Amino acid sequence: MSGKLTVLEDNAPRRLDVVLRVTNACNLACEYCYVHKENTRSKETLTSQAAIRILHTLADYVGKGGRVSITLHGGEPLMAGMEFYRRIAAESRMIREAGTSVRLGMQTNATLLTAKKAEELASLGITDIGISLDGDEKINGLVRVGRHGTNPYAQIADAVRVLRARKETCAVVTVVSKANIRSLIRVYEHHKQLGFTVMQFNPRFSSSNNPGNDGLSITPEEWNEQMIELFRHCWADRERGEVSRVDPFAAFMEACLIGQGPYCDQMPTCQSRMVCVDSNGDVLPCNRFDRGDGFLYGNIFATPFDEIMRSEPRRMLLRRSERLDESCSACRHRSRCHGGCLHNAFAATGDPFRKGPFCSRPLYDVIEEHLRTKIQTTLAAMRSPDKTTKHARES
Ligand code: SF4
Ligand code: SF4
Repeated sequence: MSGKLTVLEDNAPRRLDVVLRVTNACNLACEYCYVHKENTRSKETLTSQAAIRILHTLADYVGKGGRVSITLHGGEPLMAGMEFYRRIAAESRMIREAGTSVRLGMQTNATLLTAKKAEELASLGITDIGISLDGDEKINGLVRVGRHGTNPYAQIADAVRVLRARKETCAVVTVVSKANIRSLIRVYEHHKQLGFTVMQFNPRFSSSNNPGNDGLSITPEEWNEQMIELFRHCWADRERGEVSRVDPFAAFMEACLIGQGPYCDQMPTCQSRMVCVDSNGDVLPCNRFDRGDGFLYGNIFATPFDEIMRSEPRRMLLRRSERLDESCSACRHRSRCHGGCLHNAFAATGDPFRKGPFCSRPLYDVIEEHLRTKIQTTLAAMRSPDKTTKHARES
């Protein structure tokens, strides 16, 4: 048994980061969606009773002093209705009072996020809200579209303004695809203008439900080339004092400076604390996986959670860091990157132990170089006055 499994099975307070797929239903039909676009399961939604059972199972697993961080996901999570969130927020409060930390966040397309709902979500403690948006009205409308081809941009922009008016931190998640790869600076400027202070750019990935033959896939070369250009633009902003958090840039800098970035794909193995609970209770490694991919850990309503977490597919994925792609071994970023997302590696090659297809080594080299220069310049500036003082003392 590996050391990592020992950590998971000891009695220490545990932490779980869970994507709870509240529903597979969605009011949009984004071109690159990886959740059952044409699928018969597309209307499957958790009942609040089922969600409460899941909450308790997860809280019992981490125990008192442990922490469960839940991202309410979909489909579109707001399609579950506000009563659903009232009930799970009330239950989460009780679990917290009993000594287990439960954090609730949400990833939404924001089209159903009215001022009233935003206010209620905040009062329920669901404050960490990420909004999916790929650019301005024209760019976003190329891929993130309504069921009848309508462009939902105006509703999304209204929701962002509502959150901004409430002075809430707005995080935007942008999928980098063929639709916006040549316009990333324009997308970044748009997001800034709309009031986003936290941005995350992810490469479009393929999946079992959407193998990437829709003309929206990008190559690793395009990803690196365009992200380097965006990084230089953001860095210049930072030098002028305009500070937004833009990822994966900031996350990689954190990994350089403090040894660990905040994201799942920067962990030696994301499976040490990530899982997805699907809307039928199936437990999967992550929301990017589908039930038919061969990595089903078990069903939370049918199997004790301890047993699910000891399932063979999970044990296998936990060993990824030990068996990672040889081409990562000689890479100086390995301890910060760990080969990238294991789902993306699986989707691209059929093998989760290979490195992710969007190896960002060229981008990481550029970020590291900027960081090194910045630190050297700062140190040089600190040395000058110090020298003067020393001479003064000596004279
Ligand atoms: S499979 Fe990829 S996206 Fe999913 S938790 Fe692991 S690193 Fe993150
Ligand atoms: S940057 Fe590329 S080569 Fe280096 S560890 Fe990450 S995936 Fe592997």
